[in-house]
Amino acid sequence: MGERDIPVRGRFAPTPSGRMHLGNVFSALVAWLSARAAGGSMVLRIEDLDPRAQHPGVAQTLIEDLAWLGLTWDEGPYWQSERADVYAEALARLDAAGLLYPCFCTRADLRAASAPHASDGALVYPGTCRGLCAEEVARRSAVRPPSVRLRVPDADDPAGTIEFVDLAYGPHRENLARDCGDFLVRRSDGVVAYQLAVVVDDALMGVTQVVRGHDLLPSCARQTYVARLLGWEPPRYGHVPLLVAPDGRRLAKRDQDLDLGALRERGVSAERIVGTLAAAAGLADAGCEARPEELVTAFSWDNIAAHRDDIVVDEVFLGALLR
Ligand code: GLU
Repeated sequence: MGERDIPVRGRFAPTPSGRMHLGNVFSALVAWLSARAAGGSMVLRIEDLDPRAQHPGVAQTLIEDLAWLGLTWDEGPYWQSERADVYAEALARLDAAGLLYPCFCTRADLRAASAPHASDGALVYPGTCRGLCAEEVARRSAVRPPSVRLRVPDADDPAGTIEFVDLAYGPHRENLARDCGDFLVRRSDGVVAYQLAVVVDDALMGVTQVVRGHDLLPSCARQTYVARLLGWEPPRYGHVPLLVAPDGRRLAKRDQDLDLGALRERGVSAERIVGTLAAAAGLADAGCEARPEELVTAFSWDNIAAHRDDIVVDEVFLGALLR
């Protein structure tokens, strides 16, 4: 069976740390349109891994907001907070392969010792704790619990160079040793890292297509590496532009005047929100109001690719949204 014959299964994977903002809605809309245009299905997964980031009721509101927008799902919601066993099993498999090691570096140690990655300023882990002997690990563990890192291949090992073709941004290539180094799969407080949980979940939930904000493009290489180590085919990736303020700053959950709570309170309809976002991505005419299902036949990744600059939430955009 060729890749084209595999049914598309997409997902929404929101983190319930606040109300959805327009950028989240845009990613969710494109994920939904891409899956539906291919006759595929959607899974809803609540990424509530981090107990510190949870606010009671936020996840339920998020679920209700998606339904209000007309972004339906076929399976779920799944809750990451209920899936500790599957993550532990994946970690045990990586450990059995000799690929994990405890790391005692603090954030300050990392900032001091890591080389910033040339292109995006992210830190490259220099391997400080890679070679600690068992006695040293035991001595340090008595002082503070370690986090856990996954070894990546050396820079000249072909296994550590990950290549894929993004549905919107095209060919992408990363060298794990040069671009991130050994990375965290479990935090020192025992919480499983996003990079591990997302791979385990996407694989076990049969997700074949991952659509999300462009800020997560650099995670694909790590996630592809983890998937392959665990014997899974990585999904197709499609990243979408971010929504930014006119000064270039990313819209975030703190831009509460543009979150779904504020927009719904102002009486802005779901059709207006969906239509305005679709128009900004070249998927609909300016000023259009639409339900997601009305946009399915016109959806194409070529349009997203042709509009892949960040979407500026400027006066024109706001004029269309709030008119
Ligand atoms: N949970 C992440 C977020 O809400 C998305 C993760 C992903 O799509 O891989 O930003």
